[in-house]
Amino acid sequence: MGAELGKYKSCVSARSTDKAILAGAQDGGIVTTLFAYALDEGIIDGAIVAGPGDDPWRPRPMVATTIEELMAARGTKYNISPNVSFIKEATRSYGLDKVGIVGTPCQMQAVRKGQLYPIGLRDVSDKIALAVGIFCMENFPYQSIVQLAEDHAAMSLDSVKKMEIGKGKFTFMSERGAVVPLPLKVTHKYMFFPWLLMYPAVPWAAPMAGARSL
Ligand SMILES: Cc1cc2nc3c(=O)[nH]c(=O)nc-3n(C[C@H](O)[C@H](O)[C@H](O)COP(=O)(O)OP(=O)(O)OC[C@H]3O[C@@H](n4cnc5c(N)ncnc54)[C@H](O)[C@@H]3O)c2cc1C
Repeated sequence: MGAELGKYKSCVSARSTDKAILAGAQDGGIVTTLFAYALDEGIIDGAIVAGPGDDPWRPRPMVATTIEELMAARGTKYNISPNVSFIKEATRSYGLDKVGIVGTPCQMQAVRKGQLYPIGLRDVSDKIALAVGIFCMENFPYQSIVQLAEDHAAMSLDSVKKMEIGKGKFTFMSERGAVVPLPLKVTHKYMFFPWLLMYPAVPWAAPMAGARSL
């Protein structure tokens, strides 16, 4: 690792020891565990995470102030959850003073710019207490997730338990145990590749979490 990852101060391999968190986490459950610890310790009083939306696998930002709410938002949704747009909701509607936020590199860049530049974004400079970045090499429009699941993996999105990208495959796993790996060359035409996503690490966030695909 090094040039491929981008700039970082230190790098560790970690996995949550909490079996309940791990059961529904994407990888090692580190993001959920960090927020749970931060809530317990009073480092944050809530976190902006990607919660369930109206359609299956279409995330909606939500403010989690309890471990149950953090648990409901575990796992990766491979389309955009506009978490940054929820900062105002977290501070105004929920009245949070110490906000946690998780997001992709492009989202973390927006948060850090909001904190560093004197552009007068209310609540961004003084209320973000813990920004956790997640690696990101690719993202998908929601409709393309529907096409990939239904047309290529022959699964209804309602029946999908988990999606995972790694080892050259985009894998769909169903609630009933079916596993359908699609070669990434099949998914390429559906992907977003903004330049920022080419740097999987999140130099603007501390800490950051990821698993593979480097
Ligand atoms: C679009 C996308 C692409 C990714 N690509 C890679 C990659 O190429 N290589 C790699 O190693 N890792 C990638 N990741 C990160 C990886 O999938 C895991 O999120 C990361 O390893 C953390 O796992 P965890 O078990 O600690 O997270 P968990 O404990 O399961 O928590 C995940 C947290 O991320 C939030 N979240 C889920 N989806 C989104 C979203 N779309 N936007 C913002 N927040 C979200 C959840 O609400 C939750 O709080 C990607 C993530 C996303 C969202």
